[in-house]
Amino acid sequence: MADFYRFSFTFTAVTAAGAIGGDITVLCVGGSDDAANSCGAVAGVGKVLHAKTDNYNGGETISAAIQAAHAASPFTHIMSAASNQGKNAIPRAAAALNASPVADVIEVQGEDTFVRPMYAGNALAKVQNSDAVKFLTIRPTAFDKAAADGGSGSVEAVAFSEDAASPTFVSASESNSDRPDLSSASVVISGGRGMKNGENFKMLETLADKLGGAVGASRAAVDAGYVPNELQVGQTGKVVAPDLYVAVGISGAIQHLSGMKDSKTIVAINKDKEAPIFQVSDYGLVGDLFDAVPELEAKV
Ligand code: FAD
Repeated sequence: MADFYRFSFTFTAVTAAGAIGGDITVLCVGGSDDAANSCGAVAGVGKVLHAKTDNYNGGETISAAIQAAHAASPFTHIMSAASNQGKNAIPRAAAALNASPVADVIEVQGEDTFVRPMYAGNALAKVQNSDAVKFLTIRPTAFDKAAADGGSGSVEAVAFSEDAASPTFVSASESNSDRPDLSSASVVISGGRGMKNGENFKMLETLADKLGGAVGASRAAVDAGYVPNELQVGQTGKVVAPDLYVAVGISGAIQHLSGMKDSKTIVAINKDKEAPIFQVSDYGLVGDLFDAVPELEAKV
């Protein structure tokens, strides 16, 4: 069972659910009838439960809907992509059912055995979960997306008590950008403390636009106020695995590496030849980024 979010993260959870086996039901919380029908069209999906609400509060609402759906028709596994909403909802619903969620699953080895990273990705744990209902979050970069069509899932309504979702939704804000979403972009150009200020990130934006990519950042760059928090890549930021990751003025601390080391090709630009980022790079350029980035951009 997987929930449906924007940015097609849920398509990866459907793939993970398929690796476990059994029937796959998608719980669509809020959203229009069209959204629910789209869930049913995802390859491998057998049924969609549509929990309609006018009071969508994110994780709290999803958790309440999960509990109602499970009470009506019990599931063996309840899972979601490890998106912000999934990381919020799954532990809430698991706690309500006295279960221990397994977070950030990167491999399904069986119906009760899962692999997940530990210590900022420096170790992999094989976890055997003995709960009657297994609650999982799935790392989206570790699973291919299920095809958006080919499924024939019927849609059924599921009622749930909106009172259970006690917090009040105030507002949501998101930056408007024509660039692809950082978590799913095939090219990511990230800047670190070496960028020196936010104004200099414009260089990276120009390069990213030429390559059709997204802009990311290290936590040091975010903490210094160069760029907003949503651009942070790493252990406490977003986990990305693009085809091309370019790290500019980033030293390569383990907390940063844990968010990008699965990228297919890693390019680093750093003036310090001893910078740890070069140990994970496929291509490294030792030099001043303020010379290298404009030169690179001119050549793209
Ligand atoms: P620095 O380490 O200061 O590196 C800057 C680099 O820029 C240096 O290598 C320098 O040689 C280079 N440079 C400077 N000027 C130039 C120039 N002109 N040309 C070329 N190169 C230049 N960090 C994350 O990124 N993401 C996380 O999610 C994250 N989570 C964390 C969680 C915890 C619990 C903790 C303790 C830390 C976390 N960190 C995270 C912080 C992490 O430990 C590092 O402090 C951070 O990644 C460093 O960012 P940086 O590489 O930009 O800065």
